Amino acid sequence: MPSSPARPWHALSPEACLRALESSDQGLSQAEAERRLEREGANRLRQAPGRSQLRILLDQFSNVMLVMLLAVAAVAGLLALRTQQPPKDAIAILVIVGLNALLGFLQESKAQRALLALRDLSQPLVQVQRDGRWQQLSSEQLVPGDRIRLEAGDRVPADARLLYAVNLGVQESALTGEAEAIFKRAELVLEAKTPLLDRRNCLWMGTDISRGRAVAVVIATGMATELGQIAQLLEAAGGEPTPLQERLQGLAAVLVGGALSLVAAVLVLGSLLGQNLLDLLQVSLSMAVAIVPEGLPAVITVTLAIGTQRMVQRSALIRRLPAVETLGSVTVICSDKTGTLTQNRQVVQEIRTGSAQIHVSGQGYEPRGQLQGAGALAAGSLELLLSAGVLCSDADLQEHPDQGWSVLGDPTEGALLVVAAKAGLDAFSLRSSHPRCAEIPFSAEEQWMAVWIQDPGGRLQRPLGAAALGSEELQLSKGAPEVILSLCDRWLDDTGVGPLKEQQRQGWLEQHQHLAAQGLRVLGFSCRPHAGRTAAANDPQVFLGLMAQLDPPRPEVLPAVALCHRAGIRPVMITGDHPLTARAIAEAIGIGTAGSPVLLGAELEALDDRALQDAVQGCDLYARVPPEQKLRIVRALQAKGEVVAMTGDGVNDAPALKQAHIGVAMGITGTDVSKEAADMVLLDDNFATIVNAIEEGRLVYANIRRFIKYILGSNVGELLTIASAPLLGLVGVPLTPLQILWMNLVTDGLPALALALEPGDARLMQRPPGQPRESIFARGLGRYILRVGVVFALIVISLMWLAERHGAPWPTMVFTTLCLAQMGHALSARSEEPLLRVPAFSNPWLLLAVLVTTGLQLMLLYVPALSRFFGTTPLAAKDLATCVGVSLLLLLYLELEKLYSLWRRSTDSDCSS
Ligand code: ADP
Ligand code: MG
Repeated sequence: MPSSPARPWHALSPEACLRALESSDQGLSQAEAERRLEREGANRLRQAPGRSQLRILLDQFSNVMLVMLLAVAAVAGLLALRTQQPPKDAIAILVIVGLNALLGFLQESKAQRALLALRDLSQPLVQVQRDGRWQQLSSEQLVPGDRIRLEAGDRVPADARLLYAVNLGVQESALTGEAEAIFKRAELVLEAKTPLLDRRNCLWMGTDISRGRAVAVVIATGMATELGQIAQLLEAAGGEPTPLQERLQGLAAVLVGGALSLVAAVLVLGSLLGQNLLDLLQVSLSMAVAIVPEGLPAVITVTLAIGTQRMVQRSALIRRLPAVETLGSVTVICSDKTGTLTQNRQVVQEIRTGSAQIHVSGQGYEPRGQLQGAGALAAGSLELLLSAGVLCSDADLQEHPDQGWSVLGDPTEGALLVVAAKAGLDAFSLRSSHPRCAEIPFSAEEQWMAVWIQDPGGRLQRPLGAAALGSEELQLSKGAPEVILSLCDRWLDDTGVGPLKEQQRQGWLEQHQHLAAQGLRVLGFSCRPHAGRTAAANDPQVFLGLMAQLDPPRPEVLPAVALCHRAGIRPVMITGDHPLTARAIAEAIGIGTAGSPVLLGAELEALDDRALQDAVQGCDLYARVPPEQKLRIVRALQAKGEVVAMTGDGVNDAPALKQAHIGVAMGITGTDVSKEAADMVLLDDNFATIVNAIEEGRLVYANIRRFIKYILGSNVGELLTIASAPLLGLVGVPLTPLQILWMNLVTDGLPALALALEPGDARLMQRPPGQPRESIFARGLGRYILRVGVVFALIVISLMWLAERHGAPWPTMVFTTLCLAQMGHALSARSEEPLLRVPAFSNPWLLLAVLVTTGLQLMLLYVPALSRFFGTTPLAAKDLATCVGVSLLLLLYLELEKLYSLWRRSTDSDCSS
């Protein structure tokens, strides 16, 4: 078989290529395609495996805190040598550092695997012809010889030879680094020795179609493609640290600095008080270990990974990890209308020709229904209008045995096939009897498109009468009615073609507005007979009429918009449709208010950046907006301090998606280019999914804050307790480094992980978003950690002091109390509400963590081997009871604090009301 990549496909004509590839006008047969897939393998590049396992492992040690622990282990080892004791602490620290690194390693590689799996989920789909039928397949299924269809916004899925191309521009920066789009043409036959990048009749995998349409035959797939041979593998996923992780690295430096200065202070003060230097050194080691939140990095990684997984379960695919945190602080969602706020199930409901007003019945894409008020089709003008719809459409209808009728291609164009079928026109025979010779594809900037077709015998244009005399070719155009009307100087009614005077133009515009005000999406149609191939698109045309399509809002959107308003998020609609259509849909779903202004694309263009910034603050509706204006809207909103999520589907939306804080692409209708540019992909194209993802983002952030305050509060408590011992004149160290590591990793670590699983509650979406780049310690978190740490320390220090005076085994009691008090802290940290108001079993993991941890702690006291190893004294019942009692004091304090702040808030609101 034919697929040697060296073969000079560019030197063959399109027909010769098809023949050489043993393909045909109908594409491959399914059976042959399967055989080839077997032989050639799936069409995919060997993917870069992300960060290497070794890299992940080494990264675990790059952390300042771990480095400090290693230093502590070294000092502890030296101390042990001097005192001629076994270097138990040193070994234990090393073991735990190793275990911690291993745990971090396992969790990070798991998180990375999850991210890579997500990458597979976003495999692009391609339109392929098999057995003569066009269908959509994953690009991995492509084989040499497949006929594929591409259009603006598609990423080229394999190397291919063009068979047919219209106005085709390809951006090949993936291969060349050159950003300028290159024109490509199918009919060229080049010399065999033409260099690769000058083969302008071929397409290369990984490049982007930036305009136009093409049909091509696949010549190489997978690693046999040019891209595969360069083996520029895809960049690693998930490598970049999130802003949060970066900020935590900063925090680590602060903690280490703080710990070292405290150690210095204790050494100086302790020796002034006449303490033994060796004891002081031991205390310092413990302090250094205590300040480091060893468990934190792993818990954060896990939380972010869980967050992305929860989001994908709700149909939001996160492409960049930082998006998880940013989502929570989104203040404005700019959304497309068609397909995101609406269902994108277009159905033509109203038709206006020069002589008739027609209502169309029927549901969905099923080609069954009536044209009411149509009269005889033979009147001609209606048939011409409907035929124009079919011939200007690139969509196909499909019937599925169980899913019913659906559209392959643009739903707006699919609806035109359905209405023609309802009138008894057969799209297939119409298209084959009137083949297309040229076209200008639809673009969202120009808002119209045109085709040139052959019309043998002038049959189609007969209603035009004398205007069409002798013409066997026809230009047909469709697009936004005001654009189409501006191209016309005549119109068609029953009596034939007449001049389109200002009065008639106004009449049509009024009809258009009337239809748009009902929320319908309106298309205008025109034609121009001509002999010979003069493709001057702007020559005056004959206006044929209007078709208006209903595209109902998605039912989930109404409640989602209401939720946005409650959550302090402003939903904004940006559409290419008519302002009245936009307003009618906006009203139905609750965006904007009845009198709120609609800004038009043309008006935006006239505003300078400053004026635009003022305008965007008060406007929720934008209509007739071309994609390049979206970028300006995002920038203006950002200049006003908003955190912007912006949806987009087309090629030209990519810059706006990149600029937005959260670029949102459509998983179903979106182009590959827009998906590449996005931070998040909606698998169901649904606006409500954005709102769900924001809710999950807020939950992730809330949970991270929850366990940070829990873990760091305890670290401060430990640190102060240890520091106070020599200053109170106690002899010995209250906590050994080993015991501290145990607490930080196990007795704090398990409940912290469980806190990361805390379920969301409705209140998350009932308050305004947090400040965008706020510190993780904002909104009182830092103060909480210090305050609770001090109270915690006061409680434990009092216990330590009293126990020592009564000759009880105070070090073990301190160890046990610190650990047990944290159980209460974990329960209390779940919520800012009093504990009794939080449903006890809504987070069973936390209860389990508390039980297991308490059990483990008791084993450390009473299992002789463990007790010896950890240096604990088995406590008498009386002492254990004291520990439990004192631990509860912390919980009591935390709950009283909550009640106090609730009370203060309620009196505040009393005063202000
Ligand atoms: P949006 O996606 O924001 O709803 P579009 O840019 O798709 O808006 O459409 C803008 C206008 O262009 C529509 O109101 C319609 O009149 C026209 N239009 C849309 N799709 C097509 C198409 N396939 N062919 C011709 N005109 C179209
Ligand atoms: Mg659109």
